[in-house]
Amino acid sequence: MGKKTAEAPSGTASGMMRQLQVPEPYKVVIGSIPEIEPAENEVQVDIAFCGICGSDVHAYKGKHPFVPTPAYPGHEGSGIISKLGKGAEKFGLKVGDKVTFEPNLNCGTCYNCRKGLYNICLNLKVMGCQMTERTKGMMADKFVAPANKVVKIPKDMSMKKAALTEPLAVGMHAVRRSGIKVGDHVVILGAGTIGLSCLQFAKLAGANVLISADFLPNRLEIAKKLGATHTVDLSKEKSVADYLAKNPQIMGEEGVDIAFECVGVEGSMNECIKITRKGGTIMVLGVFGDEVNHFNAAWVQDREFNIMGSLMYTWRDVTDTVDAIYKNKVNVDAMITNIVDLNDGAKGFEMLDKDAKNSIKVLVKVSGKE
Ligand SMILES: [Zn+2]
Ligand SMILES: [Zn+2]
Repeated sequence: MGKKTAEAPSGTASGMMRQLQVPEPYKVVIGSIPEIEPAENEVQVDIAFCGICGSDVHAYKGKHPFVPTPAYPGHEGSGIISKLGKGAEKFGLKVGDKVTFEPNLNCGTCYNCRKGLYNICLNLKVMGCQMTERTKGMMADKFVAPANKVVKIPKDMSMKKAALTEPLAVGMHAVRRSGIKVGDHVVILGAGTIGLSCLQFAKLAGANVLISADFLPNRLEIAKKLGATHTVDLSKEKSVADYLAKNPQIMGEEGVDIAFECVGVEGSMNECIKITRKGGTIMVLGVFGDEVNHFNAAWVQDREFNIMGSLMYTWRDVTDTVDAIYKNKVNVDAMITNIVDLNDGAKGFEMLDKDAKNSIKVLVKVSGKE
């Protein structure tokens, strides 16, 4: 007490902090490690909330191709700056600022970085996925980040909502890349966090017909709330192609201008190929754990498709996403299905692994400060 360090969250000895760790697949422990001090051009943040990403769950199951165990997950954090490293003030930051993060770490020297495409840096690393020894994931009392990757948010913005910035920015970037125009007909395969993010930004961008498809009916209920004009329950319907064939009035002559693949499985990729109109665009966001063995390349050529991938985001996507959340242009409350305390972090991972039908975005509450 009396020192200028921020108040220690309950259960933390001074100078030590809690950190969620995945030492081996399907095991979550809350470790206690020394607090990390910010170096030059870095800031230390007291984490308020941190979302559990699908990629964190892959790592938890030992199935992430690029994140082996032991893992230290967490890249969807929000919090309050507790310390500034030397020089960090030149980024317009000060102790007490509410912030979120742009967690992609780019090298700054490769060809793509120099070309201005740093989200596809050839040496890309992601905080909480591939980090330095010193600073691991954000499911911890404190997190140290480079000041240029810390995004200031409005004073009265909800910290819970701010923790959704990262996954929403993924949707913003993909929608921008897709080139959606006013009046377009869009189908989004998958109504998880990323599918629902694409849905909301596609609507903001002016899409007219918006179909959301998923196997989990509760997710489709939320998709409806967030602006889907139609939903396809794949636990009942054979396929989206079949549903569209039975209901030709939905798309009319125009057909599907853009299909977003937000699942990451072979069947869903080929569904996009089946439903997209000649000359249309297929935007791939799903992370494919397995290879796609059967891919209808003949249709790609014959229908002159544009097939594009989308990876992460850049600064502008992130700051515009903060703005969209703050001004309630997108609804993130509907996407937050569960909040678990850091000490019960294991529960959050179990929920997403075993009870996907009742959970979309699970937040880990660290300090819980709003
Ligand atoms: Zn994420
Ligand atoms: Zn680079």
